[in-house]
Amino acid sequence: CKKTSSETSFQFFDNQMQELSIKHLHLDKELRRAIQNQEWELFYQPKMDIATQAVVGVEALIRWRHPSKGLLAPFEFIDFAEQRGLIVAMGEWVIRTACQQLKQWEEMGFMNRKIAVNLSAVQLKQDDFVEKVLAIIAEYQIAPRQLELEVTETTLMNNFQAALTALKRLSSRGIAISIDDFGTGYSSLSYLKNLPVNSLKIDRSFIIDICQDENDQKIVKMLINIAHSMNMTVIAEGVETQSQFHILAEYGCDEIQGYLLSKPVPAEEIVKMFSKGTGKNLTLLAPGEI
Ligand code: C2E
Ligand code: MG
Ligand code: MG
Ligand code: MG
Repeated sequence: CKKTSSETSFQFFDNQMQELSIKHLHLDKELRRAIQNQEWELFYQPKMDIATQAVVGVEALIRWRHPSKGLLAPFEFIDFAEQRGLIVAMGEWVIRTACQQLKQWEEMGFMNRKIAVNLSAVQLKQDDFVEKVLAIIAEYQIAPRQLELEVTETTLMNNFQAALTALKRLSSRGIAISIDDFGTGYSSLSYLKNLPVNSLKIDRSFIIDICQDENDQKIVKMLINIAHSMNMTVIAEGVETQSQFHILAEYGCDEIQGYLLSKPVPAEEIVKMFSKGTGKNLTLLAPGEI
């Protein structure tokens, strides 16, 4: 007997759903094992202060050392871990490991560096999140100012009230808060005045064409002015070229992060950059020379 086309498409849909749920079941199982065995690694990407060209801090970025698939990037598992709530245990590991690493760098003589970790909305909604963070910095004797929490606009809007409460408490204890991927989310500027924000990270999408695109130039200039007028510092993400660096320096951006300096690297590589800089010869040009 011949199927109608709608039956065929339903069957096709069913098969796809089944395939998807098997895949999800598998990933769920694998992620739980990964949490159990701590199959995670932190890579670190330097943040450079434009004025002094010193590596003033790093951002910790998670990788999954999968037993058969090798090193996996966050896009392969973060969203799923958030949906399943597994991000809570994973995120706690990230904060703890980052603080432990910072302590180790201090013991090697690299003092006063900042370490940034990325937060998910799910973490911010946990009742005990603030206490956990405070307990971890106390355990590793990290000065609160040295820990920076990166949240995106989307993370904030997911549950603004919960995020606001948690961030205010963290901020009142001296922990730094930065808005990640700034300009790509629900950019209602009104929330900025209510939040305890220390720095804005301008998203890579505004930096990528900044040398050619006049609109990007205007937007970035404006964001730097707004941030500075609200006593926030500005860091540009995804800086890949010398020309982008020069424009950002001219506009008065405070810090840069991006492949121009370094990709995210293991902790050992960062030590070299703390002592010798990034090894890049970034000469600041006069405005007319750009
Ligand atoms: P993000 O926090 O905005 O991190 C910046 C991402 O851009 C990183 O990708 C970094 O490798 C990449 N990047 C840095 N400089 C450049 C550049 O010059 N050019 C280009 N093309 N890319 C650059 P990564 O490591 O794959 O992380 C992606 C995202 O995953 C992060 O975006 C963050 O939202 C999330 N993520 C990473 N680690 C964690 C974590 O521990 N917890 C949570 N909740 N999210 C994390
Ligand atoms: Mg980030
Ligand atoms: Mg970002
Ligand atoms: Mg991002």
